[in-house]
Amino acid sequence: MLIDSHCHLQFQVYSEDRKEVIEKCLSKDMFLNIVGTQKDTSKKAVDLASAYENFYATVGVHPIQHTATAVIEENTSFISRGEEFDEDFFEDLIVTGQVIGIGETGLDKYHIPEGEAGNIAFEKQKILFKKHIAFARKHNLPLIVHVRDAKNAEESSTHEDVFEILEEEWKENGNIKGVLHCFTGNIEQAKRYIDLGFYLGFGGVITYPNKGNKYVNGSLADVIDSIPLEKILTETDAPYLSPKKYRGGRCEPWMVEEVVDFIAERKEMDVDKLNDIIENNFRELFSLSLL
Ligand SMILES: [Zn+2]
Ligand SMILES: [Zn+2]
Repeated sequence: MLIDSHCHLQFQVYSEDRKEVIEKCLSKDMFLNIVGTQKDTSKKAVDLASAYENFYATVGVHPIQHTATAVIEENTSFISRGEEFDEDFFEDLIVTGQVIGIGETGLDKYHIPEGEAGNIAFEKQKILFKKHIAFARKHNLPLIVHVRDAKNAEESSTHEDVFEILEEEWKENGNIKGVLHCFTGNIEQAKRYIDLGFYLGFGGVITYPNKGNKYVNGSLADVIDSIPLEKILTETDAPYLSPKKYRGGRCEPWMVEEVVDFIAERKEMDVDKLNDIIENNFRELFSLSLL
């Protein structure tokens, strides 16, 4: 099967032709994890997961939803709502049996202003992140973690803030599983996540030419070369980050094929064999039965 471990198929941007996109995914025999970013999109993720056998949902509040700022991404724009974490609401979603993960949560410096207002927003993100960790622990579900650096960051520093929180939490309360989604950090950071028991999700970004992307320590291809296959997940983050072949257009979950092809080439292996390994990783992380 083809695995998209992180997409937003419930977003408004698919409202006109979601059926067609789903048909295309079904024809390619896909596993989908549809990830919520606030209450409304978490509920919609659960609704979609209920309707299709191999579709699953992750529920939570994205770090940028916490601060009320206008967010413009590559192919869609929306206003984030300054949402708090409503535990009762998310518990009701978990009861449906469709929820396999908690998130997306994490830290995002890209969308917050510089200076004091930004510092306050960032501290709020940290509190929200810790609430998600406690909630994931309570329900024995893995975390889907999002990290993004500030616009003009010289080097990737936001990962350090995430490590600080995870390492402290793990020390106090023990490890929980998770995935660092759309990983764009360096080899050292990749290894640190793996040491913490995390998987790394790779998306369309790995298919972009290195030029223009800032990697502290070589390219993402080098990261893929240096970590075990057993820790890799494939994803799209659709509707964002279309792979190179489709860049400029709306991303759709089946485009994860491009990501799989890239990794198979780097690892010099057969695409079907790679898909089997990724599927097992997906099943392992999200506690689905193994192949
Ligand atoms: Zn994200
Ligand atoms: Zn996402």
